[in-house]
Amino acid sequence: MKQGSIGVTTENIFPVIKKFLYSDHEIFLRELVANAVDATQKIKALADSGEFKGELGNLTIHIEADSDAKTLKIIDNGLGMTEEEVDKYINQIAFSSAGEFLEKYKDQLSSIIGHFGLGFYSAFMVSKKVEIDTLSWKEGAEAVSWTCDGNPEYEMGKGSRTTRGTTITLYLDDEEAEFAQRGKVEQLLRKYCKFMPVAIAFGKKQEWKDGKYVDTEEDNIINDVEPLWTKNPKDIKDEDYLKFYNYLYPGSEEPLFYIHLNVDYPFHLTGILYFPKIKDRIDVHTDKIQLYCNQMFVTDSVKNIVPEFLTLLHGVIDSPDIPLNVSRSYLQSDANVKKISGYITKKVADRLEDIFKNDREQFEKKWDNLKLFIEYGMLTDEKFCERAMKFFLLKNCDDKFFPIEDYTKAIETLQKDKDGRLVYLYATDRTEQYRHIEAAKNKGYDVLLMDCPLDPHFVGLLENKLENSNFARVDSDIIDNLIRKEDREKPKLSDNETDELSIIFNKVMPEGSHYLVNADNLGENGEPVAITQSEFMRRYRDMASIGGGMNFYGELPETYNITVNLENPLVKKMLEEKQERCGNELADLDSRIAESEKAEKARKEAEKANAQSSTDEDKEADKAAENVTELRGRRKDILEKFAEEDTLLHQIAGLALLSNGMLKGKALADFIRNSYEVVGKAFTK
Ligand code: ADP
Ligand code: MG
Repeated sequence: MKQGSIGVTTENIFPVIKKFLYSDHEIFLRELVANAVDATQKIKALADSGEFKGELGNLTIHIEADSDAKTLKIIDNGLGMTEEEVDKYINQIAFSSAGEFLEKYKDQLSSIIGHFGLGFYSAFMVSKKVEIDTLSWKEGAEAVSWTCDGNPEYEMGKGSRTTRGTTITLYLDDEEAEFAQRGKVEQLLRKYCKFMPVAIAFGKKQEWKDGKYVDTEEDNIINDVEPLWTKNPKDIKDEDYLKFYNYLYPGSEEPLFYIHLNVDYPFHLTGILYFPKIKDRIDVHTDKIQLYCNQMFVTDSVKNIVPEFLTLLHGVIDSPDIPLNVSRSYLQSDANVKKISGYITKKVADRLEDIFKNDREQFEKKWDNLKLFIEYGMLTDEKFCERAMKFFLLKNCDDKFFPIEDYTKAIETLQKDKDGRLVYLYATDRTEQYRHIEAAKNKGYDVLLMDCPLDPHFVGLLENKLENSNFARVDSDIIDNLIRKEDREKPKLSDNETDELSIIFNKVMPEGSHYLVNADNLGENGEPVAITQSEFMRRYRDMASIGGGMNFYGELPETYNITVNLENPLVKKMLEEKQERCGNELADLDSRIAESEKAEKARKEAEKANAQSSTDEDKEADKAAENVTELRGRRKDILEKFAEEDTLLHQIAGLALLSNGMLKGKALADFIRNSYEVVGKAFTK
């Protein structure tokens, strides 16, 4: 019997590795099965090349768990090892490289361990003793046994295997005994080995007999050695793709489309990506793509390997060229990873463009569930954005779809303003903005529907991409102002008249917001009062609420524009009532204010001319200054009293608020009660 010490650099490496790798210790099974797969593929290759002339036999890998003995066996019929090979590959290479690895990465171990198998050595994460029993394919080879009990010391001697291949036996730590439980082992095999390229049997298939489950003769094969992505797309039907999707994500909704990836140069990559239905939430199931390396499961977190928006997709990517033995931050700058990420982005764009061109009907039908994904991609990936400008669909309020270029052509003649800028009108809610949409349509304009959570950002992106264009929400101003055709004559009001309007309308608006009141001539049939919120203000508030970090705008009070149509008969009547009720008083105050102001101005000029003015003059001027503030206050009181009492003003302002959904609570109750009174007076005389 031969004894020796394994060439690790750190004497007490076993406790270290157990502690560090605790969270990921289950990967040991993947590593050992992967070695068995390697050994099996190697013997096949030797047979193919003619070097091995014997019988290959059944190459199935067997996993055996014994929960009573707390042992787990991985048995292959691969090429086996001779004594020298065990010494070389296990004692020297496997162990010493694990030691070096630990030395090198001890600081960042936990972040990279999921991506880097420690190979054979990982068996010690869960075992107190590991045994190898192996018989090489080589002629005249003898079975070798190797045992190590968790100290860096091993024993080698005569093995007991009589057939070619290797049996690895793990004597599990007491606290790791679950790895000998049927259910646990099955779960791990499904997670890590489901698509490995050699058949793996875990016990026998069971059947229900005489009131209990009993083993049958048939091996319980847990993997699919030829998963769909390894096959030629020409031989695969649509339903095969859907079946595979269902196998990967049991119970999921049917995906919209799929893409079969297949590239040999300049890197190897295969896989199938699926577009899931995404409607509302941006954080839906990222991390659904599974990454494989030669059909061996590596991770289901592909961040840093594909662009962020693609993590919304589902499916599998298999590539031996993604470096898995390096830390995550390094991945992003890796040239191969960049190429791979670029390739996948291009493939996704190709596929979407292909459906757009060749099956527009299907594309439109699925658009609502696809849009958020595409917008997310366009907003975050410049290359994808360039491509997607060609197949992005704009949808209008009548549910008609247009590629961006076609839409621009369609609105070009009517929706250019006097300065030659093209105005894209949009609504975010067909019901709430119904009146504004109708007003725009009556002018012959078209209104887009932008009701997706990313649209506030996306509108900004389109404005950048489309030259000399801007987007305006239909309710952000009266329609004639949204697309200004020529400089319209605005009513010429004196400062006093403008101020009066502002005071009386501010009085009847809900508190807590700012109102900018302006007068306009919008025709006899135009609405008396329109309440709008400027595109600029609203956009920044929207951004802040999405979490764009622009909280400054989020905290500003709401500001609305109130447009009073002086040509509307109700407005005219209301202003007449004002004139009747307080016209004389106001005229008197106005002229006194004007006089006082004149006096004050004269005083100031005199002061400038002669710094030493008489005290008499000073007194006069002070009186004038006091008067102005006081007089203005009185004027405001008179106007506010009128505003409070005038039923007509309350009704037209109330209707404007109501049509914008801005009447709530007491204000709404008051408005309804007053309306009944008005209607009552009109009909019960
Ligand atoms: P890697 O698989 O990356 O080479 P491992 O630590 O997993 O590293 O394995 C070390 C070596 O031990 C392998 O390269 C192989 O030569 C040998 N080996 C491990 N398991 C087996 C097995 N089941 N059959 C034959 N050789 C094996
Ligand atoms: Mg290995």
